Amino acid sequence: MQKDHFLTRRRALLAGAVSLGAAGVAAAFAPGAGNRAAPAPPPPAAGARAARRPLRPSEYRLRPLTGYGPPPHAPRGGTPVRHEPLLRVPAHGRTMVLTFDDGPDPRYTPQILDTLARYEVRAMFFVCGEMAAYNRDLLARMADEGHVVGNHTWSHPLLTRLRRSRIRSEMERTSDVVERAYGERPEWFRAPYGAWNRAAFQLGAELGMEPMAWTVDTLDWTTPGTRTIVDRVAEGAAPGVVVLSHDAGGNRSQSVRALRSYLPGLLDSGYHVTVPRRQYV
Ligand SMILES: [Zn+2]
Repeated sequence: MQKDHFLTRRRALLAGAVSLGAAGVAAAFAPGAGNRAAPAPPPPAAGARAARRPLRPSEYRLRPLTGYGPPPHAPRGGTPVRHEPLLRVPAHGRTMVLTFDDGPDPRYTPQILDTLARYEVRAMFFVCGEMAAYNRDLLARMADEGHVVGNHTWSHPLLTRLRRSRIRSEMERTSDVVERAYGERPEWFRAPYGAWNRAAFQLGAELGMEPMAWTVDTLDWTTPGTRTIVDRVAEGAAPGVVVLSHDAGGNRSQSVRALRSYLPGLLDSGYHVTVPRRQYV
């Protein structure tokens, strides 16, 4: 695909991103605007490409001084400390969000990306730092194709059993590797096992991330069969629903096959499958 065409398509996809605006989160989210909607060719792709060259741990921190565009940390003040994660997105029409956790994994993630690309749909990938570090090319592809990468900690621990300093390290290292490979620091965080605590909310906010959980759990990690995963998505489909499935952490071929089945089904049913967008205020 030609580069120009690709950028045009990506911009069109970005323009179609859903914005969060529900009661209680209105201060952080608003429709129709946001940094990610800027029409200029966004730095993330350039950053992602630049990141193919390994950077020393301290080197990327110089980018705001040496590169172009705003410093990556600048717009992050004001991320609120929440007491519970977001479970769904405000429904503007029949909007749904697909999320894939624990990757990226070179065996499954590329197939999921292929299916999303085939239907020109964007999704969220909550990646683990230790997986991202070995699969930076997949994060660069996610950036190129307009997907949103969230932070799912470095090693997928149960945060409620960790000291605060360790939780911070799990989050911070992951945001660092995502920034180098994807081109931007994550704006979203998801606690492993959905086990949240106060420190996770506070540290996530400090790092500029909103906590996102899910509405419909496909339980695909139990390998219940492709048809069961498809049925769970179909039965759970509703405006504003966030779907949880996995692109790593075990054999995920059922998850890959299920997506090929339920995604066209959702689109045929009139669902707009997209990603949330944050607005900095
Ligand atoms: Zn997970």
